[in-house]
Amino acid sequence: MNAFSKIVNQDTFNKQDLITMLNADEEDRSMLFKKSREITDSLIGNKVHLRGLIEYSNVCIKDCLYCGIRKSNKNTQRYKLSDEDVIQCALYALEHNYGSIAIQSGERTDKLFITKITRLLKEIKKLSNGKLGITLSLGEQTLETYKEWFNAGAHRYLLRIETSNRELYAKIHPNNDLHNFDKRLEALQNIRKAGFQLGTGVMIGLPHQTIENLADDLLFLKALDVDMVGMGPYIEHFETPLIETQNVLIALQERLDLTFKMIATLRILMKDINIVAATALQAIDKMGREKAIRYGANILMPNITPGNFRNNYKLYQDKPCTDENATDCNTCIDARMSMIGSQIGYNEWGDSRHFTKSKV
Ligand code: SAH
Ligand code: SF4
Repeated sequence: MNAFSKIVNQDTFNKQDLITMLNADEEDRSMLFKKSREITDSLIGNKVHLRGLIEYSNVCIKDCLYCGIRKSNKNTQRYKLSDEDVIQCALYALEHNYGSIAIQSGERTDKLFITKITRLLKEIKKLSNGKLGITLSLGEQTLETYKEWFNAGAHRYLLRIETSNRELYAKIHPNNDLHNFDKRLEALQNIRKAGFQLGTGVMIGLPHQTIENLADDLLFLKALDVDMVGMGPYIEHFETPLIETQNVLIALQERLDLTFKMIATLRILMKDINIVAATALQAIDKMGREKAIRYGANILMPNITPGNFRNNYKLYQDKPCTDENATDCNTCIDARMSMIGSQIGYNEWGDSRHFTKSKV
């Protein structure tokens, strides 16, 4: 057993171990992926679970410096799906046996928005007879709002910390109360308090981000004891302020490779959590999401937003499938999964085992 193989086969990992894993060269990389695959196969199996993604609206009160739909981007044509559109998406997911949906949106905290989401959640629960599992990704809200949405039927919530490094967080967000690192941490605690399965994650390849930062991100996820993780490469958007840092970014291929290593290392570190194969991977490599699944991810979020709106939900440049509709996505996921020997867990929620285990 060589030094690298000894590390991946340990039971506990310190920061240096994680850095070594993230720095793996070509040969060690295969060992890393192999170990992660073994763990996935034995604890999760070769099943991938779906969350039909509904991009509810690109209206956002925030100005995250990296995001294409930030409030100050005047070139974005703003939209909000009608109730009817959302219900149609949910029915689509139900009829195609997706098991779960995920509702994502630009952030809004006004009463109208909160009540609208609550009503939609109740309707979706009713029309599916409680069959559809619901993940939310609607940003930072108060504990009351999280509770209201949990009680209305959603049971998982994704809110990325984006980076666990306070200084880096400040570099990629405006310096004001709406974009406050401590508030983000508090929101994560409140999501858990409200009863949700807690999901968070980071962007990989951010300007000025180091391998050490990423190792700290992994330790952060472990310490927070999250149930689900969604992390993906940072992809620049030309109409955002962060584009100014373009000259210090690592190449897209490197960001892709680093994302795969982050996923594999996380699977080894937190064996039974749910890990999303992020859509942003596909923007760099057409097989990016499939590869992520090979390396340890077990959740896919196929876009079921009506095709005509997708073009406006551009968080980053070259977002995939923006000119397709749900049916195109549906025929392609089965084929894509069988290509890599994975199976889709149709009609199942595929909840995080980490969460269900903790409740026994
Ligand atoms: N408004 C909500 C949900 C929508 S944004 C929120 O912010 O939580 C969802 C995720 O998109 C963000 O968490 C961020 O990690 C990701 N994202 C935004 N801009 C991105 C970019 N340029 N490259 C990669 N991911 C990006
Ligand atoms: Fe809004 Fe989310 Fe984009 Fe930030 S990342 S600007 S909160 S949509």
